[in-house]
Amino acid sequence: METTLVILKPSAILHGYVGQIITRFQQKGLVIHGMKMMTLSDEILSEHYAHLADRPFFPDLVKSMKASPVIVMALWGKDAVEVVRLMTGATNGRKALPGTIRGDFSVSGQENIIHASDSIESAEIELKRFFKPEEIIHYEPSSLSYTYEPAELL
Ligand code: UDP
Ligand code: MG
Repeated sequence: METTLVILKPSAILHGYVGQIITRFQQKGLVIHGMKMMTLSDEILSEHYAHLADRPFFPDLVKSMKASPVIVMALWGKDAVEVVRLMTGATNGRKALPGTIRGDFSVSGQENIIHASDSIESAEIELKRFFKPEEIIHYEPSSLSYTYEPAELL
C-alpha cells in the first residue's frame, strides 16, 4: 500500500470543486488518511516547486498557489501514487484527457485544479513537507474488497 499527497489548489477551492474532487477519490477506493486546509507560504512553495524555480512562469505559479487557502490530502491505497496521477491527467488542462480531474475541470496550464505526487519517492518527501506525523492517521475501511485482488490479478 502507498500514501500519496494531493493538494486541492486555489483553482479548485475558488470554483467550489472541493466536494466533487474528494468524491472522485473516495469512489475510486482511495482512503483519506490526512486532510487539512492551509495557507501556503513563499518558503514552502519555493521548496515544493524548486524544480521550476528558473522557469519564467514561476512567480505567477507562486502567486496563483497563494490566491486562496488550499486543502492538502494524504490518500492511501494500492498503487496510490500511480492511481492518483492517472486520475489527475496531464499538466495542461487542455491536454488532459476527459475523465481525468484536470481534463474535466480545467482548460489552463497553470490553474489545473490539483497537485499530485509524481513518484513514491516524491510522495514520501511531499507528505512530510505538508503534514506533521500525527496529522496522518492510518485506518482501514470496513470493506477492503476493492483494494485487494486475487493473486492472479495482481
Ligand atoms: N506549470 C505552469 N506552466 C508550465 C508548467 C507547469 O504553470 O508550463 C504549473 C502547473 O500548475 C503545474 C505546476 O506548475 O501543475 C507544477 O509543474 P509540474 O511540471 O510539476 O507538473 P505536474 O506535476 O503538476 O503535472
Ligand atoms: Mg510535478
